[in-house]
Amino acid sequence: MKNLSKFISIILLVISISTLSAQEGYKDVKAPDSLTVFINKYIHETINIGNIVFSPNQKPKNIILFIGDGMGVAQVFGGLTANGGKLNITNFPITGFSMTQSADNYVTDSGAGGTAIACGVKTNNGSIGVDEKNIPVKSLIELAETAKLSTGIVVTCALSHATPASFVSHVKSRKYYEEIAAGYVNSGIDVFIGGGLNDFAKRKDKRNLVEEIKLKNYNIAYNLDELDKIKSGNIAAFLDTVHLPKAELRNEMLTKSVAKAISILKNNDYGFFMMVEGSQIDWGGHQNNTAYIERELLDMDKAVGEALKFALEDKNTLIIITADHETGGMTLSGGNIEKGKIVAKYTSDDHSGIPVPVFAFGPGAENFSGVYQNTELFKKIVQLLDLKN
Ligand code: MG
Ligand code: ZN
Repeated sequence: MKNLSKFISIILLVISISTLSAQEGYKDVKAPDSLTVFINKYIHETINIGNIVFSPNQKPKNIILFIGDGMGVAQVFGGLTANGGKLNITNFPITGFSMTQSADNYVTDSGAGGTAIACGVKTNNGSIGVDEKNIPVKSLIELAETAKLSTGIVVTCALSHATPASFVSHVKSRKYYEEIAAGYVNSGIDVFIGGGLNDFAKRKDKRNLVEEIKLKNYNIAYNLDELDKIKSGNIAAFLDTVHLPKAELRNEMLTKSVAKAISILKNNDYGFFMMVEGSQIDWGGHQNNTAYIERELLDMDKAVGEALKFALEDKNTLIIITADHETGGMTLSGGNIEKGKIVAKYTSDDHSGIPVPVFAFGPGAENFSGVYQNTELFKKIVQLLDLKN
């Protein structure tokens, strides 16, 4: 009898799900209702920004740009809920929206989305550091290097993956991982930390880029302990063969790497520009996996806290947090801030076309309020750092 009623309810569930799919036509809907409860262990303290006021004409010496891949408003406010109602990200005083459409699609990928932010041009999905006609366009990292600033990249994916790739290479396809990795060799980037060792050292063309990078006087690290021991000079850290593991298995890699990168990059009178990516928020989105999304979101929020500590002391650093696009068409259909509970729903297992939030703190932050194209992020940063484009 028990088994029969169980059988009937399963049949009813299957019917209701298939009716829903037929009605809505969303073939991508895999997990329409995913419930996550976070118990206090995910709560981290946030940094108190206070009432620090910057003069409206002050330009920042340094800019730290955080990109939460796939981080839309729901991902951020899910993280806020999971963390008991507080986040470093949502403490930022200036907010805006970035429109993410690519040259050839209403819904961008991370190649075109990254290129818009890194190079200031709308390009076709899948392209990296080139315009629609496949012509290379200089990135913020390259322009900052020319202007003698120090530069850095810290990511939780392979360094050859689309988002960081947009800042260092110029290729027609994001899949040219080895060509992208080669972009780091002559980039002049002072600090780069992430995964992707295989694209540097296990290549079809037999070049060993790690050896080439060593000859350019970089300190090399293959794990967090080795990274921790480096106290000065340029750093190339390959912390995994491909991507880093998920947040709960990374041992605070992102926060530690941001702290290390800042400690190196800050020693330049011309200033620095650094891009930090919370790469895997997007992957949780593709899986419609609320816990994965929010652990990654909170992991990036901790790293934002590390950057904030520096910015509050330095008083000459602008921090910008944004995304290349939203992933999952995620929304919060329920939740409880006290319990850190989120009920999320998804409309897709891919990216969506809605604008993504921008948060800014520091000198020049007010330039980031409003609603604008993702390419404006590039233009605002070029203007604030006096880069020559
Ligand atoms: Mg990415
Ligand atoms: Zn994605």
